[in-house]
Amino acid sequence: MNSLTVSLGVHRPLTPEMRDRILETTRARMEEPAYRLLSPAHLRGLARLESRDDPIISVYLCLTPERRAASGWQSVLSSLAHETLLKSDEAASETIRRQLDRIEAALNEQLPELGRSVVFFVCERLGIWGQITLPIALADRIHVGPRPYIRPLLRCWGEGDRNLVALLSQERSRFFVQHLGQVEEIYRIKGQRIRGMLTDRVPRDRRDVLATQVLKDEARALAQMAEIIMRELETSHLLVAAPPDMYAAFVENLSKALVERVQAFAVDIHASPHEIGEALGPLREKLRRDREGAVLQEFEQATFEKLAIGVQETLDCLREGRVAALVVDDRFAAPGEQCAECKALFQEAPGDGCPVCKSRGLQNVDDLVDAAAQQALDSAARVAFMRHPETQARLGKFAPMSALLRY
Ligand SMILES: [Zn+2]
Repeated sequence: MNSLTVSLGVHRPLTPEMRDRILETTRARMEEPAYRLLSPAHLRGLARLESRDDPIISVYLCLTPERRAASGWQSVLSSLAHETLLKSDEAASETIRRQLDRIEAALNEQLPELGRSVVFFVCERLGIWGQITLPIALADRIHVGPRPYIRPLLRCWGEGDRNLVALLSQERSRFFVQHLGQVEEIYRIKGQRIRGMLTDRVPRDRRDVLATQVLKDEARALAQMAEIIMRELETSHLLVAAPPDMYAAFVENLSKALVERVQAFAVDIHASPHEIGEALGPLREKLRRDREGAVLQEFEQATFEKLAIGVQETLDCLREGRVAALVVDDRFAAPGEQCAECKALFQEAPGDGCPVCKSRGLQNVDDLVDAAAQQALDSAARVAFMRHPETQARLGKFAPMSALLRY
């Protein structure tokens, strides 16, 4: 979708019609395949999917330029499919094969134009067919299980990875969404040409006052737009590049809650999305470190009874629905066991059936972290992956996985 151009009038804030239009186009944007992940609601929806009979098949396929050329993706997908079918039991393999064929056919028909990875969640019996394109490269993988495999999405979707970027000036302003490091323009705003308005008929001593008023009106409309877009896209930060007078007037018109999420940076008003991405690099890194650090601080300051420390204790508290926040070293991965009945997770296989409900139906889980993250999302707990080397080193006794408890 191309960016939409909006013109602002003098002495006039956003009209109700303009507000509606901004709301509508922002929502439409979230439904585009490349942006589906912009909505945390989509991710929560995925985490809730479960199929007891036919498995849900999750396919992650990296689409680098080399893979795109000469259908390089095809051989990768077919060798992944081959491995998957070797591992699956005979009864299930026919449906799995049919669905993998369908995915291959869909990609053959139309490879996503943008994006460096494509992800599918498919279950024939439940009629689930989901395709997501991502601007970052994720490791190739096919996962077959009763629930979709969402860990790669969770870790790249982390809070703060979706920001609104505003390049503001009196004559033109531009709004961008920064998502997973990719920057895309969504609105261009034409402002007022102050030169044309300040004719000789305006007394000299009035000119400054008029110019200031025009700037203020414009800043107010821009602030209103930013509020609408941020609410719709559930963006974390508002990253602003503007001359000092515009910056001050803009921030003055933001709600108090939003002011706290503003970060300033510098870039030319005509910069390309790529240049903006480069200019934002250090700020993005700092925001991530600060965000992860803030989560860790909550853990460090919590009293002993409000903490589950270590893997098994955390898994136990997840089952009991007591977890408010889950923290995981992003490098940690381990297989485990899950009770098919009560969903309890175990790092070490309990010898004699499930110790919680006595069921004998224990199943292998190839990634405990994914299963834990899914349980956390189910109970509306926050999930924080520590990805910055500094916060990973600071985890200490909370490594590799711990939880902050509600009670
Ligand atoms: Zn059990």
